[in-house]
Parts: sequence; C-alpha cells; structure tokens
Amino acid sequence: MFIDTHAHLDFPDYKAEIGAVLGRAKDADVGKIINVGVDFISSRKSADLARHYPEIYGSIGFHPEAALELDLETISSLSTIAQHKKIVAVGEIGLDYYNLRRSSKYARYPSREQQIFCFEQMLDLALELRLPVIVHMRESEIDTLAVLKSFSSGIRGVVHCFSSDFEVAQKILDLGFLISFTGNITYPKSEAKDVIKKIPLGSIMLETDSPLLAPQPYRGKRNEPAYVVEVAKKIAEIKNISLSEVEQSTTKKAESFFGLSD
Ligand SMILES: [Zn+2]
Repeated sequence: MFIDTHAHLDFPDYKAEIGAVLGRAKDADVGKIINVGVDFISSRKSADLARHYPEIYGSIGFHPEAALELDLETISSLSTIAQHKKIVAVGEIGLDYYNLRRSSKYARYPSREQQIFCFEQMLDLALELRLPVIVHMRESEIDTLAVLKSFSSGIRGVVHCFSSDFEVAQKILDLGFLISFTGNITYPKSEAKDVIKKIPLGSIMLETDSPLLAPQPYRGKRNEPAYVVEVAKKIAEIKNISLSEVEQSTTKKAESFFGLSD
C-alpha cells in the first residue's frame, strides 16, 4: 500500500468527484491520503473529509499566501478543529518568495515579514498541539531554515514538494526533518535526481500535491492520489531499487511520522 502524504481534495477541482478519485486511488493501492489545509476554510474542509472517509486524514494550516488572514481567533478555532484524532499535522505552513512577484487569489500578497510571522505562529501551534509540521518552501531556503532552526527542538516536520539542491536537503535532514517528493521529479528537466540518489530512502515520503504537479505521463492534467505510484516508480528508478522497497519504506515512515492508525 502507498500513502499520498499531501493532497488538496477539498479544492474545487474535484467538486462531486471525490468518490471516483478515491476509487481510483484504491485500485492503485493508495490506501491512505493526507488532505492538507492551506487556510481556515480548507482546514475545516480537511477535517470534514477526514471524518467522512476512512482513508483520508487531515491537517490544519495556513499557507504563506494566506498569512494576512490569520488572527488569534482563527488560531483558536484551528486548535479546536485539531482535537479530532484524524488531524495529524499542522500544514502546510512556510515561506513562499516565488509568488512575491506574482498575483495571488488573496487580496494582498503577504510580505516576507508577514509570512515569517504567520509561519512562527503556526509552529507555536504545532508545539502546543504536539503535531508534526508540513512545510512549504519556495525560493525561501535561507529564511525557512533559519526559522526552523530556531524551533528545531520539539518540532518534527517534513519539507514537502522538495525542489532544491542536495546542500539544502542535507540541512533539512540535519534538523531531523524528512523530505517528500511530488510528480515534478518525473519531469525531464527535474534536478531532483542528484538529491534522491544521495539522501537515505528512510528520509523520504511520497506525495502528489493534487490537483497540482501531475507526474508524467499525466502532466498538464489534474493530479490525483492514484498517481503517487508514478512518484514512487521514479524514486525506485533513480535509486536503482525495487518499487516494493520504496513502497514499504515510505509507507512505514508516513505511518509512524503522522501516527496514522487504522
Ligand atoms: Zn500543497
């Protein structure tokens, strides 16, 4: 069984198709999925999905893009949602400086300082709730690592959709964090090969980041958890090991890291 540790099935891309999406995941032997919150509404929807579907777990969090919507009342509501036992992480949280230059679905794009403030508040919440964190890091390696370092004792985490180089990967592993990879490692121009080759299999988890980043041969289409198998195949190919070795290691890691019980 494979686990997709990062999907956004609450996004409008799926509408009423969740049942079919989960059916295809089951057929592909993807038995557990973590639905990841990006703001208050999606965190609440994550919890609803987790309550409704046995194979779905949820996380609560504020993506850096949503940083300006976070206030104390919202943090306390998130904390209440997180009391459900199938809420297994705080995420996705972090820093995104790539989009500082681009437009956003939110009214204003948060500055670096505003993103860091939101990130730190979410890390405080994770400490309080004793939950691991799912970190989003885009063109923000230096600041992300600095913030994580200042929290490192007591925080367990994974940096998701890893797309940096080996040097950054090593610093993440030195903090005791894990790394997860999405479908973008299957793209011809991906530079993840070097990183995947060099880091231990035991530090890796699988994800899709659905509906984004569909792997080859589905690139350009809507992504879904069933396709996480393509990510596993690519890792097996790069590391020159069997698919079942990747499956067993990543599943075991995800289950213990997030405490996924049946
Ligand atoms: Zn995501």
